[in-house]
Amino acid sequence: MAENLYDVIVIGGGPGGYTAALYAARANLSVLVLEKLTPGGQMGTTEIIENYPGFPEGIGGFELGMQMKEGAERFGAVTKLSEVVSVELSGAVKQVHTQDGDYQSHTVVLASGAHPRELGLPGERELRGRGVSYCATCDGMFYRGKTVVVVGGGNTAVADVLYLSRLCKKVYLVHRRDELRASKVYLDPLQKAENVEFVWDSEVKELLYGETVTGVRVKNKKTGEDRELSCDGVFVAVGYIPNSDLFKGQVDLDESGYVLAGESTKTNLPGVFAVGDLRKKPLRQVVTAASDGAVAAHFIEEYFTTSIGG
Ligand code: NAP
Repeated sequence: MAENLYDVIVIGGGPGGYTAALYAARANLSVLVLEKLTPGGQMGTTEIIENYPGFPEGIGGFELGMQMKEGAERFGAVTKLSEVVSVELSGAVKQVHTQDGDYQSHTVVLASGAHPRELGLPGERELRGRGVSYCATCDGMFYRGKTVVVVGGGNTAVADVLYLSRLCKKVYLVHRRDELRASKVYLDPLQKAENVEFVWDSEVKELLYGETVTGVRVKNKKTGEDRELSCDGVFVAVGYIPNSDLFKGQVDLDESGYVLAGESTKTNLPGVFAVGDLRKKPLRQVVTAASDGAVAAHFIEEYFTTSIGG
């Protein structure tokens, strides 16, 4: 039993999780990182990250994820690829149950991130992999030379449009307003991309499909006009939903499901910390997730000194 008892269990192997793991392991604490799929979290599906300092040419998201994992493992953190199915976080010893076994720890770092929001249209789920995608860098290559629609107006949508415009014959950007939410840094390259057509003030009302997607029907909210856009694929980039279902009823969440933890990353439960995109915060970036991880490890060390007696 004792071999499954850790000082720190990190749930989620993204930049927040692996930074917490690095700092905690380097402080000589025993650390287990539980990751469902592949290390890196959402970063792993990002082609290139240009706003994480220290990489003047940018770095591939998957590569950065693997390097963060290696950095933590160098100090003794252990990774297990297994899905967490339930947790009991309120006791002094926390219980974490996975598909492959049960683990205990004195502290837990919640680092499970967020997943893409769906449009909620009929056929959307069934068409996943047959024309509907939530990850341009994962699936874009299937649409080389074809026509695609990207839905959304934030940084993800615009980065997806730029990526796809280099691969595809034509890219429609369908946004529900006439102004993008995305950072200004994207606007210039976006204007220069000749194969991009903006469809403003419009919502996708229907997916058109046979075996695969053949188009979308959009409605202009200002004019009420309906329009069909023929396309081979639809990339949905309308924001994220926090992966906090496992923690509901135990840690305090806001109305959207983000964990309330503040800048200290401390949740309402002693010994439980929340980092990265899962936490209610003003800016969700790799660098802010990494920062959270370092802060969490700092307060974990404090917790061991003050609550467990070092
Ligand atoms: P986001 O910033 O929340 O933007 C979501 C976009 O989708 C908004 O334009 C929103 O429209 C639209 N939208 C939301 N629900 C919709 C619906 N049901 N139907 C149609 N449109 C809908 O999400 P994000 O772009 O995925 O970015 C998430 C976070 O990751 C942000 O903090 C972002 O800065 C960060 N990120 C950063 C980078 C980068 O810095 N390079 C790249 C990717 C992501 P409204 O504008 O009308 O609300």
